[in-house]
Amino acid sequence: MSARAIETAPAIALDIGATAIKIAAISRQGELLAVRRIATPSSPEPTIAAALDEIHGLANEVDLDPASVAGIGCSIAAFVTDRGRIVATAHLGEAWVAYELGDRLSASLPANYYFALDAPAPTLGEAYFGAGQGCRDFAYVTVSTGVGAGLFLNGAIYTGGLGWAGGVGHVIVDPEGERVCAGCGNRGCLETYAATQGILALARESIERHPESLMVRIAPAELTPRAIGDAALRGDVAARCVFETAGRYLGLGLTNLVDITSVQRIVIGGGVALAGDLLLEPAREVVRQRAFPPDHRKVEIVPAALGDLSGVYGAAAMVFNDIRINIESGN
Ligand SMILES: [Zn+2]
Repeated sequence: MSARAIETAPAIALDIGATAIKIAAISRQGELLAVRRIATPSSPEPTIAAALDEIHGLANEVDLDPASVAGIGCSIAAFVTDRGRIVATAHLGEAWVAYELGDRLSASLPANYYFALDAPAPTLGEAYFGAGQGCRDFAYVTVSTGVGAGLFLNGAIYTGGLGWAGGVGHVIVDPEGERVCAGCGNRGCLETYAATQGILALARESIERHPESLMVRIAPAELTPRAIGDAALRGDVAARCVFETAGRYLGLGLTNLVDITSVQRIVIGGGVALAGDLLLEPAREVVRQRAFPPDHRKVEIVPAALGDLSGVYGAAAMVFNDIRINIESGN
């Protein structure tokens, strides 16, 4: 392939999560040429087979030769080396540990591959194509089943010397907190208030105090952050209180984050963050009151721009900008 063809070729991007895999073709300008979503099979081999099938199907759909793309980027819910060896995963299952994802993919489909954990990957997506554009230093915070952050510092991903930078979900926001954190086993972590299970626990407490709440009419199995958000938008005071409380705790976590990193902007993504200002406004209020020095109170707290596609956009950004994330060296 000529240099000119490589310069203009799109990237194929994979985002392998615990519940869904997204496969996309993305142009260098950030145009989403095609995207597919499938459920994640329970072990590595069927996952790879399904992903390869979808890559070929998607390439057909947009008349693309998978062998002539600029590269294939892969975001995955696992600690992964830049060559695609899985080191650890809390979400995908033990069968993935030590799996040679890079070797397995290139044996079936030779290409220029890039790999990253699903915290730096969406951060890169927002950095190059979304709400982090034009920002040299920002944090991408995801609020969903857990809370985590990717740090983009000095114009590059920062993972830290030990590899875990951005674990904002486990900063202690309530030393007297009683709920045990499902992620780390401590008490009082930000996740126990602002992630999905934390929000649901707050909702159950709120329902007890407010039997008139619209939330009482929601079947327990259907009580989700989205359903609580809908009730809040319909004026339900108890539901608004849930997000008010979760948002204030999120604000404490973000205060710690900005005080330590001095980032200019915090981009918030993840399913719980779809509640928008219901969650973000109380968080901003706490940061405006608590951050120090006063310059930190001006940090912009904005919603992510790419929704659930920030991971595939980040995978494409790695390809186009030749970004290798080496978790063993801290950058
Ligand atoms: Zn924790």
